[in-house]
Amino acid sequence: MTPVFANSAFVSAPERLVVRGGGWNLLHLKVRYGVYQHPAAGLVLIDTGYGPRVTEGPGRSLPLRLYANLLRPKLVEEHQPARVLDRLGARPADVTAIVLTHFHADHVAALHLFPEARVYAKAATLARIQARSRFANLRHGIFDELLPHDLATRTVDIDRLSVRAAPHGLGQGADLFGDGTLLAVDLPGHAEGHFGICFAELPMPLLYAVDAQWCAAALEPGKAPGLPAALVSSDRRALASSTRRVAAFREQGGDVLLCHDPSVSPYDLPGPPK
Ligand SMILES: [Zn+2]
Repeated sequence: MTPVFANSAFVSAPERLVVRGGGWNLLHLKVRYGVYQHPAAGLVLIDTGYGPRVTEGPGRSLPLRLYANLLRPKLVEEHQPARVLDRLGARPADVTAIVLTHFHADHVAALHLFPEARVYAKAATLARIQARSRFANLRHGIFDELLPHDLATRTVDIDRLSVRAAPHGLGQGADLFGDGTLLAVDLPGHAEGHFGICFAELPMPLLYAVDAQWCAAALEPGKAPGLPAALVSSDRRALASSTRRVAAFREQGGDVLLCHDPSVSPYDLPGPPK
């Protein structure tokens, strides 16, 4: 199957924050998450997007409320997971696995809807998060209140899976389901343990590069944004090198999709809203 990507929310930001040399015009950034039907592993989500837990959850901590007020994500009701799964003829309980590319709020906010799903993630990163104080996690952009308490027990550590070479010189990727269809490729820099997903078997291999950059335009040489975007990354040098790797994959003939890129992708779930 070809993956589809829903858009859980829009977040507005001036172009110059996300593309070097950009203008003050507001871009309507998307917050995608993927849905993929694997023949053996079942129904798989790639992250979960933003949800009401971030924007209106009654028990939210003060930092989470401040975060939501600052970014003001506009949730897309029709693209929340239950609605999207319904359109695809499935229910949340049918989701057998969730791939978590990293632990930022816009990737984990709907995890609670899938209490039975296996979670493919980096166990070492999760262990570091769980060993830190809530305050220390905030400095990494992580809200531990969005992480289910039993997350570690449901986690499949992708660093313990066998690896395969991803196409177009992308390097090695953890073979999530043992058949080469989904390869988790490390793209460090944006957040601790951040990785992308290469759909290696598609006629034109697709790299879902998640948050390697926010906009496809920033993958062009010299277009990655400077401050303050670089400040929120966990490792600026690694971010620059991951950006170059993603750009090189695209130059070699691969297709690239980013979580927040505002343009319409052929992988986007059709239907309102654009
Ligand atoms: Zn992120």
